[in-house]
Amino acid sequence: MKKNMRRCQNCGCLFEVCNKVKKHEYCNKEKCQRARKRKWQKQKIKNDKTYRKDQKETQEANDNQPFNQLNERIIQLEQKVEYLTQKLKVIKLNN
Ligand SMILES: [Zn+2]
Repeated sequence: MKKNMRRCQNCGCLFEVCNKVKKHEYCNKEKCQRARKRKWQKQKIKNDKTYRKDQKETQEANDNQPFNQLNERIIQLEQKVEYLTQKLKVIKLNN
């Protein structure tokens, strides 16, 4: 069986690719494995940032919803205040 060789992303040496390892881009040297981990961590942080940015943008989109929705909510609250004011008057009268 022909050996599958690949060039290390870190030191540039040729190494034998192990099919069990996903994205086998680095040789077995300790420094290259460390480089692989660093790259992975960097990638993860980048992905997390993108994720958080997306979340923020979604939140901002929600904040910028049309005013009529806000107006509806205000009307609802005004009705509630009106109701509570009436209720309070009744309570005061009964005392
Ligand atoms: Zn290497």
